[in-house]
Amino acid sequence: MQTVVSERNPSGLDKVAQVVDGRIGESADGAYFESVDPWTQRPWARVARAGRADVKAAVAAARRAFDEGPWPRMPQRERSALLHRLADLIQAHADELARLDTRDMGMPVTNSRNWNVTSAINHFRFFASHAQLSTASTYPGDDRLHQYLRYEPAGVFAAIAPWNYPLNLGVWKIAPALAYGNTVVLKPAEQSPASAARLAALALEAGLPPGVLNVVHGFGPDSTGEWLTTAPGIDRITFTGESRTGSIIAAAAARSLVPVSLECGGKGANLVFADADLAVAVAGSIRAIYSNSGQVCLSASRVYVQRAAYEEFVDRFVRAAEALPYGDPHDPATHVGPLSSAEHHAKVSDYLDSVGSDGGELRTGGRVDGTLLVRPTVAVGLGPAARICREEVFGPVAVVTPFDDEAEALRLANDTPFGLSAVLFTRDLGRAHRVAAQLRAGTVWINTFGVREPRAPFGGFGVSGVGREGGDFSREFCTEPKTVIAAI
Ligand code: NAD
Repeated sequence: MQTVVSERNPSGLDKVAQVVDGRIGESADGAYFESVDPWTQRPWARVARAGRADVKAAVAAARRAFDEGPWPRMPQRERSALLHRLADLIQAHADELARLDTRDMGMPVTNSRNWNVTSAINHFRFFASHAQLSTASTYPGDDRLHQYLRYEPAGVFAAIAPWNYPLNLGVWKIAPALAYGNTVVLKPAEQSPASAARLAALALEAGLPPGVLNVVHGFGPDSTGEWLTTAPGIDRITFTGESRTGSIIAAAAARSLVPVSLECGGKGANLVFADADLAVAVAGSIRAIYSNSGQVCLSASRVYVQRAAYEEFVDRFVRAAEALPYGDPHDPATHVGPLSSAEHHAKVSDYLDSVGSDGGELRTGGRVDGTLLVRPTVAVGLGPAARICREEVFGPVAVVTPFDDEAEALRLANDTPFGLSAVLFTRDLGRAHRVAAQLRAGTVWINTFGVREPRAPFGGFGVSGVGREGGDFSREFCTEPKTVIAAI
């Protein structure tokens, strides 16, 4: 049975199933919700809506697969081989998976295929290999004792994903969990459920045992997300989404002392010093705010430019923003597609309206009537207290502001409760590393943007999150380290 059924049901819509204990199908009571294509603004799929019974069944299946099944017990080389097989299957279905995410949330299909899906493949391969190459310490020091460390699988994971890179961000949660021998219940975002369901079906096809990767659909509060994160029998919660939601989930987890990994929102700063190569700075700044229509946690939405370069930078930046093709996300040439939903479009629109009332002006961009598009937008003339400079907009909107010196640049950049990432452009090597050291952000890019090293920690300072993902950092979260001390 296919997950996303090609022949339409009587409603004329495709179907997105849940995957629980190896069974691909409807929810127990047949409930569903609709996923709306943000380009056509019409529903395109009926999605199995999990009730409490489905969530309970999914957690029980993951529990059984962990407590009794072969997954945590099989030799690492076999588990890794199955995950590489799953990566092969994602590769073979890359175009289909890319289109599902484009349909669900409007990501331009080229970005969906070349970044979203490719990164998911690479992530499965990376963690399959990382787990296999991983070593653990011994603790010499006493000849009569043999002391060593074992990394044991932690158990059942509740994974909650957002909609902005649906396949990729789901995989960032589950690839390390699976590679280290855990079982997972994944709830994708309600705006983008299809690729996760397809992924779980491919996992079964790859040979992952039933119950190892379950996918249930639904909403957050008083729905699937809340029921999953408060379910008894969960050993870890791994969440990506808004900071506010992260704090609700952390509070729920605190009641049962379940460790959480929270990857939350951002309000990245981009510092362009007057000595920067302006061509590099403009191209990097464009990537840093308009990729995926600005719906990126790492977006550098606050652009600070040293006064001597300010006018020239703004002129070139505006011209480059106006040259980006926007429109139909299914067109491979499109760079900026519609925002993910009418609700999100209304939120971004509200921020656009606040620019004028907070004393600023739009140098380019704005809404496109009758669509959910927002053209690449550049706002200027705003002070640090403006709402659009303080809150996460999550849209293709950059605010450009001048600064005078390094100290002021750092003050402006760090004047935020977020701390996920920052970017800086300069040709002064000393300044580059001095400023990088003082920026309060989990990732700092110098003269580039968006490159990710999977062995390095990824996560945020402040309200941008709790914990780090990547390489050994993921292993620490996905395992229970155990010390064994033996008399010999
Ligand atoms: P969101 O917090 O609204 O939703 C994320 C997920 O949480 C969804 O699956 C949702 O259904 C679920 N959820 C909502 N309320 C819940 C509750 N009470 N209990 C359990 N689950 C609940 O976020 P979003 O709008 O989907 O995603 C955008 C946000 O994600 C932005 O803030 C962005 O910066 C952030 N993000 C962070 C990273 C990162 O790595 N730090 C990456 C991508 C996105």
